[in-house]
Amino acid sequence: MRKSWKDKMWIVTIIYFSLGFFNIMFAWFGMVCFLVPILMSLFGKEKAFCNSYCGRGQLFSLLGSNPRMSLNKELPAFLRNKWFRYGFLLFFTAMFLNMLFTTWAVFSESTGVNESIRFLWTFDLPWKLANRAGNNVSLWIIQFAYGFYSLMLTSLVLGLISMFIYRPRAWCVYCPIGTVTQMICKIKEGEGL
Ligand code: SF4
Repeated sequence: MRKSWKDKMWIVTIIYFSLGFFNIMFAWFGMVCFLVPILMSLFGKEKAFCNSYCGRGQLFSLLGSNPRMSLNKELPAFLRNKWFRYGFLLFFTAMFLNMLFTTWAVFSESTGVNESIRFLWTFDLPWKLANRAGNNVSLWIIQFAYGFYSLMLTSLVLGLISMFIYRPRAWCVYCPIGTVTQMICKIKEGEGL
């Protein structure tokens, strides 16, 4: 079957994360991965983003198709449980709000920019060299980029670990964006959550 550009979105994901190593400002492009799926589920077809456009999901499928990259095991029941998915969404949202709060603190000049990536919400990885924003860019814009890239990288690594331990797209079972789009679709169709 002939492949279309939609099947190559995994390349965009690789480019996105690679660029963030060299210039943290590219992290802002990740907002597309946040907003487009939600808009598509609100105004478009059910799960269209997940099924056709998500580069991250495609990357996991591609890497996980190599038997050495995924143990291809069944996911434990707790990961598939809807309360785990909602709980993880809540946790992820709290981390997102915390990132916004830090950005606001920099905006209001109550703190300086933290030029590091907070990996797995715990470890600060030095990422100073990636700050090539220049002197004309407001500090809060730079802080948001660091915070957002932290979230994106952390979720990528969790996805890769899930891919290895379980199935290629195990991350999709509890991916916060997938949970939100599924919730929107269920509400639109008048189903209970
Ligand atoms: S569940 Fe998340 S990672 Fe999986 S395809 Fe959807 S948006 Fe992408």
